[in-house]
Amino acid sequence: MGTARLTIDLNAVINNWRALDATTNCETAAVVKANGYGLGAPSVVRALAKAGARTFFVAAAEEGVILRTALGSGPTINVFSGHMDGDTDIIRSSELTPMINSVDQMLRHVEALPAAPFGIQLDSGMNRLGMEPEEWSAVRDIALSQNPTLIMSHLACADEPDHPMNRHQLKAFREMTDGLDVPCSLAATGGVLLGPEYHFDMTRPGIGLYGGMPYEDAQTVVTLDIPVIQTRTVAQGETVGYGNRWVAEQDSTVATIAAGYADGLIRAMGNGARLYAGDIQVPVIGRISMDLITADISHLPEEPTTLQLLGTHQSVDDVADFAGTIGYEILTSMGNRYARTYLE
Ligand SMILES: *Cc1c(COP(=O)(O)O)cnc(C)c1O
Repeated sequence: MGTARLTIDLNAVINNWRALDATTNCETAAVVKANGYGLGAPSVVRALAKAGARTFFVAAAEEGVILRTALGSGPTINVFSGHMDGDTDIIRSSELTPMINSVDQMLRHVEALPAAPFGIQLDSGMNRLGMEPEEWSAVRDIALSQNPTLIMSHLACADEPDHPMNRHQLKAFREMTDGLDVPCSLAATGGVLLGPEYHFDMTRPGIGLYGGMPYEDAQTVVTLDIPVIQTRTVAQGETVGYGNRWVAEQDSTVATIAAGYADGLIRAMGNGARLYAGDIQVPVIGRISMDLITADISHLPEEPTTLQLLGTHQSVDDVADFAGTIGYEILTSMGNRYARTYLE
């Protein structure tokens, strides 16, 4: 096979969801935006729904349509971007619940789809999505009279437990919601780990389900095995790859594997990145090409048929560190060329 094999362990996703759920006394939803963080939203949501998840979140209404097809009727599908111009038909036909971000969105929603469910997104300090406190005070009574299903906000610094922004946002959110008879939600993965004050009626983990930080105890979800296309002996002094980036200090054996930056293995990973042949570390050498990566396998006892980038030896966050990025970006960049296999 000429393409890398991405194995997604759906039981690990379920176990991560259950383990996060067990740390709270409230409902645990699942965030599956960006095609389930690149892993394939339909498979992920079907597995989680079977395990008992009842509420899912996506970024855009179009993503919600794909979820509804995968899930059938029943589970709640919430849309972070709210009710955008042009969304009305799919919100109705796919029974989506927009998280309303502004007075404009609210008017659009109640005029176009009176009596259709909606939630409210409030800004508690991140200044990205949601109504500001003043805006909320102005429309609060009208909004509440339409029975919103959820009031939510999002934390900017939840991956840093001691960051003062967490308490600041908690206070702002409580000031906007205390005493209201509507389910509330503030915590994503990081917020779940901040403790019960942050849990309210529903948590919204994403990255933790897929094995990424800040959920340290997550089970490994993703394995990426990349086939070796060719191996060769490179004599001392010869070079490998674009720009002659790597020069052999001694006679070496080099393997060329079938994945590159077009598959999300960004060039910034470059030198310092490692692969695994079984338990043995193998250094990436030379520049990462569009479709190919070269590795120095001189020290291996035999030529491997595949090399592993992601798995139990090396997490998405380890790989993110090679490139100076975050696990979220490694996951959501993973290429369409990979053959995806689901373990269930
Ligand atoms: C992406 C997102 C989440 C999930 O965040 P994770 O850090 O992946 O757990 C929750 N809520 C909102 C509003 C989001 O945008």
